[in-house]
Amino acid sequence: MRTSDIHTAIPQVTTTDDPNAKPTGTIEIPKPKLRLHVNDLRHSGCNTFLSLVPSLASTIDNALVAIIENLYTIPRSSPPRDPSKAPPIFTPSVSPTRSVTIFLRDIDGVAYTNGAELDDDHKEIHISLQYIHKALKLPNPRAEIVGVLTHELVHCYQHTAPRQAGDSAPRPPGGLIEGIADFVRLKAGFAPPHWKRPTSARERPEKWDQGYQHTAYFLEWLEDVHIGKGAIGMLNDRLLRVGYVGEGLQMEGEAPGTGSSAPLPSFWRDLFGSGIKQLWEDYGTYLDKPNKTNDAQRNDGNWEDEIINPFE
Ligand SMILES: [Zn+2]
Repeated sequence: MRTSDIHTAIPQVTTTDDPNAKPTGTIEIPKPKLRLHVNDLRHSGCNTFLSLVPSLASTIDNALVAIIENLYTIPRSSPPRDPSKAPPIFTPSVSPTRSVTIFLRDIDGVAYTNGAELDDDHKEIHISLQYIHKALKLPNPRAEIVGVLTHELVHCYQHTAPRQAGDSAPRPPGGLIEGIADFVRLKAGFAPPHWKRPTSARERPEKWDQGYQHTAYFLEWLEDVHIGKGAIGMLNDRLLRVGYVGEGLQMEGEAPGTGSSAPLPSFWRDLFGSGIKQLWEDYGTYLDKPNKTNDAQRNDGNWEDEIINPFE
């Protein structure tokens, strides 16, 4: 039984004249109740975690700042890259997550996140102790673990569908959900060294919704190059307000005739003026340009097994 319907999705909005205020616009940083649940104190991964992340609360608070900055902040003054495009605009509505419990468990995989059985506003992040132990072999184990935490915390705060829609709203592909989580991880500065930003269209994956870093770099291009700051916040907001509508079969390109003059909805075209197929092509065209405008090649490194959550 859901008991949280009194928590509307509209966050507390504050105005501030404080010149030292965090650059997060007018949205307050959420302060969920934080809990830590250690299932096996004797596991070597446990000491590793506690020594690498001794101040878990402040680490999570920093990740929350990154989430608000990158998903819930309207840019104040950045003009759109293309004057013919409207700048991203939306009314941020932060997920009403009330608590986050970190479980350190002896499980396979890396980590996963779910809502509590009784109330989805209470989130659970499960992290593998085996994985934490293995992370010690990486060049920067703390950055890796904080990066995973940030990714999972995004799942606690991102939108995927209108809250009251139940199962009726079309869901976005899992690759988009994972891509948004890694987009915030990337923006927060925790892209691991094995991620590789593509430098040409050929280096793109086949599909835009490949997920994780692959979709994250595509979203980064939308935000930093193609549309402008706030683009992914607007996308996240649209998932809440409308849902992932109009992207079923045969929805790419021009809307087919419907017997009336009203065009069919298209999630991507309605957001950014082009369908996803065109956006993916435009991304490839950009990648093939000799002089790109953003700071590509920042994360060159060797490919390794990327983090994949086997439970989602
Ligand atoms: Zn994930």
